[in-house]
Order: sequence, then structure tokens, then C-alpha cells
Amino acid sequence: MNRILLILMLAFSFSAFAQPLSYYLPTSVTYNSSIPAPKEIVGHEVGEWHITHDRLVNYMKAVDAASDRVTLKVTGTTHEGRQQLALFITSAANHAKLETIRQQHIHLQDPTKNASLNVTEMPAVVWIGCSIHGNEPSGANMSLLLIYYLAAAQGAQIDELLSNTVIILDPSFNPDGLNRFASWVNTHKSATSVTDPNASEFNEVWPGGRTNHYWFDLNRDWLPAQQPESQNRLKIFHDWRPNILTDHHEMGSNSTFFFQPGVPSRVNPNTPKKNQELTGAIGNYHAKFLDSIGSFYFTKEGYDDFYYGKGSTFPDIHGGIGILFEQASSRGHAQQTENGLLTFPFTVRNQFTTALSTLEAARNLRKDLLSYQREFYNNVKQEATTTSVKAYVFGDAFDQSRNALFIEMMKRHKIEVFENKQSLDADGKTFSAGSSWIVPTNQSQYKLVKTIFEKTLRYEDSLFYDITSWTFPLAMGIAYAELKSMPVSTGAMVDEVKKPVGTIIGNNSNYAYAFEWDDFYAPKLLYALQTKGLITKVATQQFESATVNGKKKFTYGTILIPVKNQNKSSEEIQKLIANAVSATGVQVYALTSGLSTSGIDLGSGSFVNTRTPKILLMGGTGVSGNDAGEIWHMLDQRMRIPSTLIEVERLNAVSINSYNIIIMPEGTYRNMDKAAQDKLKAWITNGGTVLAFENAGVFLSASGITKTIYKADELKGDSTVMLAYNMRADETRAREMPGSIFEARIDMTHPICYGYHTKTISIFKANTLFMDQNNNPYDSPVILTDNPLQSGYLHKSYVDKIKNNAIVNIENIGRGKVITYSENMNFRAFWFGTSKLFLNGLFF
Ligand SMILES: [Zn+2]
Repeated sequence: MNRILLILMLAFSFSAFAQPLSYYLPTSVTYNSSIPAPKEIVGHEVGEWHITHDRLVNYMKAVDAASDRVTLKVTGTTHEGRQQLALFITSAANHAKLETIRQQHIHLQDPTKNASLNVTEMPAVVWIGCSIHGNEPSGANMSLLLIYYLAAAQGAQIDELLSNTVIILDPSFNPDGLNRFASWVNTHKSATSVTDPNASEFNEVWPGGRTNHYWFDLNRDWLPAQQPESQNRLKIFHDWRPNILTDHHEMGSNSTFFFQPGVPSRVNPNTPKKNQELTGAIGNYHAKFLDSIGSFYFTKEGYDDFYYGKGSTFPDIHGGIGILFEQASSRGHAQQTENGLLTFPFTVRNQFTTALSTLEAARNLRKDLLSYQREFYNNVKQEATTTSVKAYVFGDAFDQSRNALFIEMMKRHKIEVFENKQSLDADGKTFSAGSSWIVPTNQSQYKLVKTIFEKTLRYEDSLFYDITSWTFPLAMGIAYAELKSMPVSTGAMVDEVKKPVGTIIGNNSNYAYAFEWDDFYAPKLLYALQTKGLITKVATQQFESATVNGKKKFTYGTILIPVKNQNKSSEEIQKLIANAVSATGVQVYALTSGLSTSGIDLGSGSFVNTRTPKILLMGGTGVSGNDAGEIWHMLDQRMRIPSTLIEVERLNAVSINSYNIIIMPEGTYRNMDKAAQDKLKAWITNGGTVLAFENAGVFLSASGITKTIYKADELKGDSTVMLAYNMRADETRAREMPGSIFEARIDMTHPICYGYHTKTISIFKANTLFMDQNNNPYDSPVILTDNPLQSGYLHKSYVDKIKNNAIVNIENIGRGKVITYSENMNFRAFWFGTSKLFLNGLFF
């Protein structure tokens, strides 16, 4: 070996598994040299290093500048300020009339306009979406190749593709997660080839790169749309409503490649049969293309099309075809697997190949796809005019904030919502003008409206990949009812969602102020006042007081702010409250006398000082990142309450005496050793409060800190029934609880239930924990009813077991307490109906 060769080998030793562009790209065409190749901009070959998000954006911008086939649009920014992109790729001729093409495409969905449209002359719209799970990066890395190919390839074939399709490329659905993951694997890459699965490169630290900044799974947020990444993306989605949307994922390293169709019996019944036929027809192209490069794959197993909050299912309810791709993950740059060495470039090539097969399918099936979308919306119109439910009415008379959050969510999906002009009685409830709204079913988004409002109790299959029910008004705790006829007249259609405006009713007082606890943002207001040093008290009994608007009844949980004995003047206090209400939208009342017109007077001992929470939020290995993130997001984004994140592993090393609240999200806590358990117990005994969720409660019970008792689950099944060996896994999975909605009774006088004004609320349950009530009935203020299932799947073996289970248990230990929640109270940042049960634990 000569010296020069040796030096060259050393210089390129980081590139042991790197591949040139020719490994990926069709070699049958020539490439326009004025389009920069990825390496010219990002500094490495595709697949040689994991692309970081900044370099990805740089490359996309460079191609946009060099090509008349590409137009780049920044659709918004993530929590961490990274740009989200949509690249529109089509022929230069189509670019010149892109807005006309878009309008025509949208008219396809309008039965009053679509009859005259000639689909033979319209391009198909294809959306290629990459790596919504940040640590499934082959999709995002593939996007470099795809944009290069589409911008630079020459010849009749690409010209025909580009004149017959409008391609929307989102190279990174989850920029913050992608970047977190890329940093991890690049940081741990060795110059010599290390392919041992034990290496750090393949084993991220908690919480990993799958999720966004607040550790949300963005592939569950297409429907609730509570994260900015989803909100920005949905604007483009609804502007275009693609015929095909691809969702490029990764799965376990020992697998091969999956493309939809998924399990036929697990398709949502609101999705037409024809959707699955077209998915199958497109699948034939993936098979052919993967066969040609020798890659293995499977279909119709494992993954489903049930929950509309996933990227591959959401298009199915918009006349499009969502396609899930799952590539076996190399995680890092190359890893030994059961199927031999799996290199990162190999995974990238499979994703690129199926992006090409999708485009080929779109070109050949263009007329079928466009006709299907027209037919889909014509059928929707038909169903919408014949359904017996003519409208839904909804509204919470006590909380304009949750109403606004719900309307905002529906407006993001182009759902028509009207103000209700008259008082309406339905389903035993009264919906008043000014605090209720009407959603007609006779509208183009009928199917989405149906899936947002309907309860489901019947299922063709008993195995689910995700939740089985998501009735939004139940989730948000907002009263609603079906209407069998449209109200004779409604108010205006809601154009812009009006955020509630907070005011001080009565303007100022030298005596006291009070606000009720019903508003979603009441905890945000309370914390803002607490941190300004104001003494605040909570009413543990009801009272009625004179206000400028006449007598007003204040219920349990009302917050009182005395004016005297504060270390601020009455003018300062007024100003402080005025600022805080305008930031939160909560109504505050100025009170001028301590003498109540009924109930307790303002000087009563039944007003108790509130606690200013100083929060330790537990994280780390063995703690659910999703659940911890939901709690962090609720506190940080919604309520502006800080929390200190400490991993379980560090608990022994830090002083915890300055915190008065420790939150333990769902988790096994397997890394919490005996010393840490003793430390926690001593801290509770000295007056601390623990909020423990789901299996964290089981851990505290098992380690002897609480006495909470859980009934055994049925996951092992009935051993007396003989089952065929190949049925066993399915039978166990059928006993899982993927996520359903249950009704619970609450004790509205209990501090944990302050802010509720109905006797029952809806709880989301996605576990098989069955918590017994505490011995003292006052310490189990939230209990499931006798027949609690409201919507969703429930295995028959749980029907009796779940009755009257406790949802929240409170146990006094020394001077402190443990509040045990059997369920998640902050599910996916849209289950607002239970957030007060969590937040009350911080303050009262
Ligand atoms: Zn994934």
C-alpha cells in the first residue's frame, strides 16, 4: 500500500459506510449540473453523517434558488425557532399558474363546482412528509436526494411527472426532534466502524429525539393540533388537500420495510372502501420498485388506519390516501442486526425508492385519484344531507377559554362554526346565547365533524395501534348535544376566534377582589399574583356578595385577594390585577364589603391561604417522556408556571428541601433506589406533596410509601381457556386498554375538584390500572360511575372490574400528602376536562 493511498484512507475513514449519489439515484437519466448536489452545500455525502436541520434548510434553499421547478415556503417555526418548510415542486409551466391549479384542486371538493372540472387536465397533488419522529431520520435524509432528483433530472420521464403532479415536500415534520437525534448519533460516531448495538450511538439518553420540544408525539397531533408544528403544517394541508400523503417512519432494527395497506379490519369505518383499494393499487408500485433493488418488505400486518390524528390516516378523511412507510432503523450509521449489517445509506435508499414509487403511482393513477377525491366529497355531501343529526350545539357557560380553545381547534380544520342566537334546550341541558355555538353537519367537513363529536362503542377488531375514542367535547369538558333539526336561525359564522378579554368588574376596590376557579386560565392568574407577592386565599365554602352587577354567587374554589395587609398599595394591587387579567382573559370582581349577602363573610376562617407551588418534575429513564412533557407543557406553555426537571438518577445528589411539590409522571421508576425512596418519604413526612400519575402510584404503593391498593389486571387472560398458539399474542393484546372515555362522579366541595360545576366529568383511560377507593371516603373525591364507559373499546373482562374505581386518592403521610391519580390528567394537551384535577393539587 503506498503512502498516498493510506493518507486518503485515513482522511475518509469517517466515511466507512458512505455511498456516492449513484448508489441512490436512477442512473438512466442525466442531471443538470447547475443544481448543487447535496455534498456541495452540506459538506458530506447523503447518509455519511446524519443531516442536521440547519444544513437541511441550507440545502433546500440552495436548490430553490437554482431551480425553476422548485418554490420554497417557510410555513412557520417550531418551539425552538427552527423553520418548517414546504417545497412546491412541479414544472415551470405549472409554477406560473400554481394558484389557479390550487383553486381548481380545491373546487374538486365542492359539489356545487366540481361537476364541470376535467380531471384529465388536472395535476395530482402529492405530499411527501419526512421523519415526524425525529429519531427515525432516513426520511429526512432521503429528502436531500428527492429534491436533488426532482430539480436536476433531465428527460421526458421527469418532464411528464412534473407536468402531471404538484409535489409538496416537507423534508422534516419535526425539526427539533431531528436535530436532537442528529446531534446524538453524530457525536457518538467513531472513525473505525463500530456496529455493536450496545454502543451509545444506537442508544439515546432520555427523552430521545422521537418527539418535539415538549416531548409530544407529533404523529398523534394532526387532529388535536395543539403543537405549532401541526398548526403550521395544517395551513398548507388544508390549502391543498393532497391526493396522496406519505409519512416516512422507521421501526425496530431487526425488521425489514412496511408499506400500507395495513390490517384491513382496523381501518376506521368512516374511511371509504375505495380508499383501501387505491392504497393497494399504489402498494403495487412500492413492491415493484423495492423488488428491483432487492429489498424485503411486508404489508397488511401490524399497523392500522384507525385514529385520524396520525399522518397516514388524517388524509383518509379528506378524500386523499395516507401512506405509512416504516423502515427498519439503523439508528446510527451502521448496526449489526438479525438480518446482517444494516447501514444508514441502505435505509435512506429504501425511503427514496418508495418516494419515487409513490410519484410513479401518482402519475399513472392520477385520474383515479382525482376522481376519487371528487366522489369522496360528493358522497360526503350526500351523507351530510341525509344524516339524522343536523347539528351539534356546544358551550361551557362558565369558561370562555375552553370554548375558545375548542373553536380554535375546529377552525384550524376549516370546520364551520356559528354563534348560537337563542336559548336552546337539548339532551337535558340548556345552551344560552352568547356562550354556545352551533356546528351544522351539512358542511364539507362533515366527516371530520362526525369524528370530533361522535361516541363510538362498536369495533370490528379488538386490537389497536392507538386510542379508540377521542370525542372532543368530552375531552375538553364542554357540554354538547346532538340536534335533530337545525335551529331556525343562527348567529354569524365564527371567522376569527375571539380570545376572552379579562376585566375587573367594578374596576377597583380598597377592600378585596375575587375570581372564580372555573376558567381554564384561573391557575395562570393565581400563580401570576402569587409570584408578585400577594397573599391569596381560597374559599372552601360558597358565598354571595354585592358587585356592581348586583349580587353574585361565588362557589367553592373562588380566590380572594385582600387589599389590606399586603406589602403593596391599593393602586399597585389594582394595576397588578388589571395586567394579570388582560394576560389571562379571566374575570375578576371588585368587592367593597366583607359582609356577604349569604354564605361565609370575607373574614371567615373558611378562606384558606393558597400555596405557591415550587415544583420538582421528575424525569429520566423509567419515566414516560410523553407524560412528563404533557405536564411540562401544561405548566410552562399554558399556565406559565416554572418547574425544575430532575432525572430520577440525580435525586440522591440534589437537595429537595426547597420544593413543596414533587410531580411523578407515569413511569416504572426502576432507577429510584432505596436511598432515594427514603429521601422522598422523609420529604413527604416533613410536609411535601407528591402528585403521582398512573404507574408512579403503583411504584409508591409497592415501595410502601402509600397504602393505595390496585386490583390485578387481566392481561394474562383466562388460563382455563385453551387457545391456539398463534392466537395467544392477539388475545393478550385484546385485553389492553388503548384509550377510551369513562364517566366519573366528583365531589365538587373537595379542593381537588374546585372549578367544576357538573357532578360528572369524562376521564381518559389508557391503562389497565384499577385503583381501589381509600378507606376514608373523603379521600377519594373522583370515582367512576356504575356504568362508566362513554366511548371507546373496553374488553369484556373489565366491565365489572372498572365500576366505582377511584381516579384520585389522597393520603396524608406525616405532615405531607400523596395525591395518586390512576390516569393521565393532561393527555396530549387537549384533554382539558381533567386539567383542573391536576392543577388543584398544586395550589390547595
Ligand atoms: Zn415513527
